[in-house]
Formats: sequence, structure tokens, C-alpha cells
Amino acid sequence: MPTAPLRARAEIDLAALRANVRALRARAKGAALMAVVKSDGYGHGAVPCARAAVEAGASWLGTATPEEALALRAAGLDTRVLCWLWVPGGPWRQAVEADIDVSVSGMWALREVTEASRQAGRPARVQLKADTGLGRNGCQPADWPELVGEALRAERAGLVRVTGLWSHLACADEPGHPSVAAQLSRFREMVAYAEEQGVRPEVRHLANSPAALTLPETHFDLVRTGIAMYGISPSPELGTPADFGLRPVMTLSASLALVKHAPGGHGISYGHHYVTPGETTLGLVPVGYADGIPRHASGTGPVLVDGKWRTVAGRVAMDQFVVDLGGDEPEVGTRAVLFGPGDRGEPTAEDWAQACGTIAYEIVTRIGTRVPRVYV
Ligand code: PLP
Repeated sequence: MPTAPLRARAEIDLAALRANVRALRARAKGAALMAVVKSDGYGHGAVPCARAAVEAGASWLGTATPEEALALRAAGLDTRVLCWLWVPGGPWRQAVEADIDVSVSGMWALREVTEASRQAGRPARVQLKADTGLGRNGCQPADWPELVGEALRAERAGLVRVTGLWSHLACADEPGHPSVAAQLSRFREMVAYAEEQGVRPEVRHLANSPAALTLPETHFDLVRTGIAMYGISPSPELGTPADFGLRPVMTLSASLALVKHAPGGHGISYGHHYVTPGETTLGLVPVGYADGIPRHASGTGPVLVDGKWRTVAGRVAMDQFVVDLGGDEPEVGTRAVLFGPGDRGEPTAEDWAQACGTIAYEIVTRIGTRVPRVYV
């Protein structure tokens, strides 16, 4: 715990993260677990979360960008890492030299990675990504034979080792969505084709958090879990974190910077979108949209102050917002809790997502670098 008072802090409960990893591994039974730590560990801090996840049994780490993957290596993590979002001219050679598994969705990427492996003098670890229906990254079924054929040629030439075949689901968070079965069967076909041609992957994988939690038929050799590892349910439709034995890892709070009396009819914050209905007290919460508090929370975001839920009064500004304390007078410096696990009376990231018309993924990943992460 910090000794000096902090304007704002995001407490990260690594024991909860470790327990979440163990719960997810138990649910995924025989499958290995990839801890997805892209976007600075969904705002929780990539390196500490990666370390904690590995301690709890994660055997892979997943990132979007190569820079994120290289940062894990620079921090001394030697666990297998897959990174999947490349652009031409990316740091392929550094990735090959750092033993990072790289995802390849098209011929241009295969060409760049084989060139990097020539320069590095060692084979690249390549995972071929199939577009089984997400319609985003990944190789289309029509182009799969060419990509598989070229990858095998590069493997025979000693330039690559095809370590994985994988894809990503579009609607696993919507119970009963028919696209899941369609993607699953296309994935099976595309894997079978590659294996018939001679690909011998170490891992075949499809499942993200919602699939890891609810669709065992998608687990294959590995599940890639992000949001669930941070203790957040992928969707309220699927259930609460507690339903899955998960506990939210991040608690975001700020110290009240001012408590003051105000008369009725007083306009609050830019645009005066809130006007005090009568004589009241106001609390100044010193975080704003520059810290990742959505401006959409203006008039809706919930905050626990002194045992009561308050609502953001008027607009969220860059660095601060106001809550109407309704005549209560908590001391300046009192902790206002924006969200946390929810079992100490505070709102959750999911409550914020609902208040802002978004998903809890966006709430936690947006929390800015100006808010110190405090590991507890
Ligand atoms: N796999 C890929 C390719 C992703 O892009 C993501 C995140 O969006 C994940 C896995 C993890 O998803 P989730 O946070 O739902 O577990």
C-alpha cells in the first residue's frame, strides 16, 4: 500500500489475478493457458500481470504488437509469447532473435519473416492464422492452400517452424450465436487441410475468454484469456465474474480534492449540464478523461463516497469531475472509489460500462499512465 497520499491510484490485486488464472485453467481442463497481456495487460500492467500469470500456470503470453512482445522479453520473461498484429517493415528479425512466435495471416508476412530468419540465421516460429469467419485478421479459406504450401516450403528450407494453427471467434460472448458452430467447423477443416499437407503444429487454438468460460468444444490445445484473467466477465449476458469463480483485479480510486457547500441552482462543470436542485455539498474527484474516465460518464458514472453511491454531476473534464454529496460532508482526502470487485459496496467496471454504453474491456484499458498502478 502507498504511504504518500495519491491523487488517484489503480490497485492491482495480483493474488486475485493468480486465482483467476487457476480457475480458468481448471475450467479449460487439458488445454494450456495463454495470458493475453496486450495493451499493457488491459491497463493492469503487462509485466507484473504476465509474471503473476506465469506463476499461476500460464504457459504462453499473448500480445497484439511486436513491441509489446519484445518488452516482455526485455523485462526478463522467457515464457513462450505469440504476437499477432504486424505491419510491413515490422521488427521481424528482433522477434525471431527473441524467440517470439509470430502470427502470419498472408503471403507478405511470410515473405518478411522468412527474410528475417535468413538474416538471423535461425528458423522463425510461425503460427498461421485462419479467418474462419471473424472477417478481421487471418487468412481467407480460399488463400489457405497457398499460405500453407509456402509455409511448408519455408519449413523444409529450415527458415520457419510452423508452431501453431489458430483463429479467433466473432460472437463467443453471445450465448447460442450460430456463427460459433460455423467458425468451429471451418477451423477444423482448415486445420485438417494443413495437417494433411504435413504441418505439425504444437498448438491449435481458437478460444478467447467467453469461449474458455462457456464453450469447451473450442478449447483445443490452448485457450487465450484476457478479460476473464483480469476478473471481468466478457459479457453480462454470460454471467457475473463470481458465477465463474473470478474476482476483478483492478480497483480505481481517487482522493477528494475539495468538499464545499453550494446553493441550489448552481451550474456544475463545463456547459452547466447539471444544476444543483437545492442547497447541497459538492465533492471534487481529481480524475478526468485524460486519465481514461469516459466523457460519456457525464451525468451517469457511479462513484462510492463515504458508503454511498454518487453520480458524476455534470461533465467529466480533462482532469476532474464533481459529485453531488447531497449535504454530506466527508473529509477532503476521502477515497472516492470508481470501481473495484464490487464486494465492498463499490461499483464495478461493468457498472461503468453500462453507465457509459460500452464494454468493461474499454473501461479498464483506457485508464491512463498518469494513474499509478499500485500492486497489492
Ligand atoms: N485472442 C485474440 C486474437 C485477441 O485479439 C484477444 C483480445 O481481443 C484475445 C484473444 C483475448 O480476448 P478476451 O479478452 O475476450 O479473452
